[in-house]
Amino acid sequence: MSKYVYLFSEGNASMKNLLGGKGANLSEMTSLGLPVPGGFTITTEACIRYYDDKETIAPEIEKQIFEALEKAEAAAGKKFGDPSNPYLVSVRSGARASMPGMMDTILNLGLNDEVVEGLSKLTGNARFANDSYRRFITMFADVVMEISKSNFEAEMDAVKEARGVVADTDLDEEAMKEIVTRFKATYKKLKGEDFPQDPKVQLMESVKAVFRSWNNERAIIYRRLNDIPASWGTAVNVQEMVYGNMGETSGTGVAFTRNPATGENKLYGEFLMNAQGEDVVAGIRTPSDIQQLKDVMPDVYEQFCEICTTLENHYKDMQDMEFTIERGKLYMLQTRNGKRTAAAALKIAVDLVNEGMISKEDALMKIEPKALDALLHPGFEPKSLASATEVAKGLPASPGAATGRIYFDAKELAEYVRETGEKAVLIRLETSPEDIEGMVFAQGVLTGRGGMTSHAAVVARGMGKCCVSGCSEVLINEKEGYVVDKNGKRYNKGDWMSIDGTTGRIYGEEIATTEAKIAGDFETIMAWADETRKLKVLANADSGKDAEVARGLGAEGIGLTRTEHMFFGEDRIFAFRKMIVSETLEARQKALAELLPIQRQDFYEIFKAMEGCPVTIRLLDPPLHEFLPTDPAEVKHLAESLNISADHLTDLIHRLHEMNPMMGHRGCRLAVSYPEIAAMQARAIIEAGLKVQEEGGKVMPKIMVPLVFDKKELTFVKKIIDETAKEIFAQSNKELHYEVGTMIEIPRAALLAGEIAEDAEFFSFGTNDLTQMTFGLSRDDAGRILDDYYSTQILETDPTASLDQNGVGQLIEFAVERGRKTREGMSIGICGEHGGDPASIDFCHRTGLSYVSCSPFRAPIARLAAAQAAINNK
Ligand code: PEP
Ligand code: MG
Repeated sequence: MSKYVYLFSEGNASMKNLLGGKGANLSEMTSLGLPVPGGFTITTEACIRYYDDKETIAPEIEKQIFEALEKAEAAAGKKFGDPSNPYLVSVRSGARASMPGMMDTILNLGLNDEVVEGLSKLTGNARFANDSYRRFITMFADVVMEISKSNFEAEMDAVKEARGVVADTDLDEEAMKEIVTRFKATYKKLKGEDFPQDPKVQLMESVKAVFRSWNNERAIIYRRLNDIPASWGTAVNVQEMVYGNMGETSGTGVAFTRNPATGENKLYGEFLMNAQGEDVVAGIRTPSDIQQLKDVMPDVYEQFCEICTTLENHYKDMQDMEFTIERGKLYMLQTRNGKRTAAAALKIAVDLVNEGMISKEDALMKIEPKALDALLHPGFEPKSLASATEVAKGLPASPGAATGRIYFDAKELAEYVRETGEKAVLIRLETSPEDIEGMVFAQGVLTGRGGMTSHAAVVARGMGKCCVSGCSEVLINEKEGYVVDKNGKRYNKGDWMSIDGTTGRIYGEEIATTEAKIAGDFETIMAWADETRKLKVLANADSGKDAEVARGLGAEGIGLTRTEHMFFGEDRIFAFRKMIVSETLEARQKALAELLPIQRQDFYEIFKAMEGCPVTIRLLDPPLHEFLPTDPAEVKHLAESLNISADHLTDLIHRLHEMNPMMGHRGCRLAVSYPEIAAMQARAIIEAGLKVQEEGGKVMPKIMVPLVFDKKELTFVKKIIDETAKEIFAQSNKELHYEVGTMIEIPRAALLAGEIAEDAEFFSFGTNDLTQMTFGLSRDDAGRILDDYYSTQILETDPTASLDQNGVGQLIEFAVERGRKTREGMSIGICGEHGGDPASIDFCHRTGLSYVSCSPFRAPIARLAAAQAAINNK
């Protein structure tokens, strides 16, 4: 029979997959002899079984739960439901990967009408007992029975109002009793039955609810953002309650062994006396700095510091811990490797190596590649910042700079950004897990309440997003959508504000931002990554300027220049349109002659920026619909310059209209129909290369033919390129080495890669199109459809962002194998969006690709991910 339940004394840290992170670490702390309240963990396998068994808990699992409960009760010398000596527990989720706030928790379980009486007598504190009971009723109703908390909050407010009391802490024993009575009545009214009195029923219902919370909406979104598979499931931890709200010698807190925002090696955290854990995390009261615990309870502080050292040395990483002090005695409720900002991650990793605690490889594995994104995002431009006026200040919860239009509703913000692509800042009194989608779309987050470990702070740091929390200097009205700064100035929804997550400063205006640089610890880690990785990292860049940025971020060449992107400018698109709508060879050649110098100059600039490195230039691949004019005034202007009537041009444009432009007249098909276009581009590339070469620079042009499905297409286009080059060499009496290769982005090309490699000197997988065509799913519209696929769990991740290794991956593996069979050791890379995605990069490493090419800002992410792939697959 499988074992589904483990006492904390039976597990250890290596059992994370089975016990979840929290459970495994509770076991580990128990075996280290640290003060951990007793309890047990119901495994992730039990959660998977729960779903397999149509959302029921099998009798054998229930039996194991009650057996573990009995042992835990015996160890504590207490009993479930015994008023004279009650065993009370918390029930918490705990997945393999930490998912802060995404799933549910129930505290004070085991309380009922009789036990609350007993607890009152036992503790001599009826206010405390009833306060605990009303909290339990609320959580149970909310989490298990899906009765909204607001029903209970309304009752509580009514009691406060009747008694003329503002703060919860001012409610006395009688008031708490009245609240319990009202809560039970509310429960009965809304649920149609009494609040369950049997602790075993409470327990089993709560365990089921935690299992269910694995699939709540916010958990699903969080999993998708963090590549956590649904198949992992969550464990459930049942642990004896300890109370931080038993008076002034009790308290609770959260602390990190190092500063999670900066990485500084100094204890960092917060605590609240006379409070339960949820009060700290929810940010309802503003907590005190952990250093102040030294004055409040010196012995406990000292013991806590010792535990911090033990844990950090044991886990060899910065720890994030939760603790409770019950009547002067310290208890550890959780430890885990702490979430941190990217800057802190880099500093901590480098420091741990320097302290001799870990190796360079360990250090590289500690940094989440995607987190580096935050460091590559803007800071405020110093001049603009100098002229800006601070209008309030909050806590610097997650560094970075954000500027944008303010929104007070997460969903509304997400919609606004999705529709307009504009920048927005989310302002909330305090964030809750429901706000996660808005936080993803926001440039930054500002909250009125909550400390450095509040939900907003923790989640923002995890996402690498700028956040200022606990800004009590502003008055926030979420409902009516405005905020008032410390000087009384009002800002409405849609107005500009800027926030600085590094200093906590708020500005009531738009401030220009600047790009970040790689220096210090970032540089050190990047150097270690470069020593370790096998994959080369190139960049996708369409201009000399982008190529320069890419080189600064460590790109070793250009893997894709999309030449059609060079025609986006207003002056250029006109010449380009003339070329597209030309009806005769003569007219087209005239338009091409206009384009030639423009292209040559662009290529020259890219070659210059990338001297000594390969530069892959792709021949034109324009989905025509993106370039044709639609505005009548533009049509008229174009017609005039072509010396034809507007009607005639409109007619031409209609004829060029395609039902399915992504599968239309684009890619190498354009060169097949109009060889003169490929000839002009080849000329521009070769002439630009020769110029740089003449100036003493080293150029390595790689000419790439897009959208090939057959070798003969490539042979056709390659002939044009070679003949053009020959002609230039003959005329100029100069030579330049170049290569001709192809993109593999149509499934047929992958299947025929062996033949295609006879002509192609290199391959580059265009995984955007390859994904689109393998799935038969439009890359432009997939988002709308995929939402339904996530909610039904048909798909868990977006195949347009993270490579579908199962399907598209097979085509890639096949093409690599066939291509290299024909042309041994040929250079093969990837240049679709997936080239900057860590999971896809791991696949590229395993498949033996030569390089990945991604947008310039992802180059550092790709460098680190490639190093991790090399370590992972040693
Ligand atoms: C691709 O299809 O993956 C690719 C890189 O080309 P584009 O995105 O320009 O179609
Ligand atoms: Mg493509």
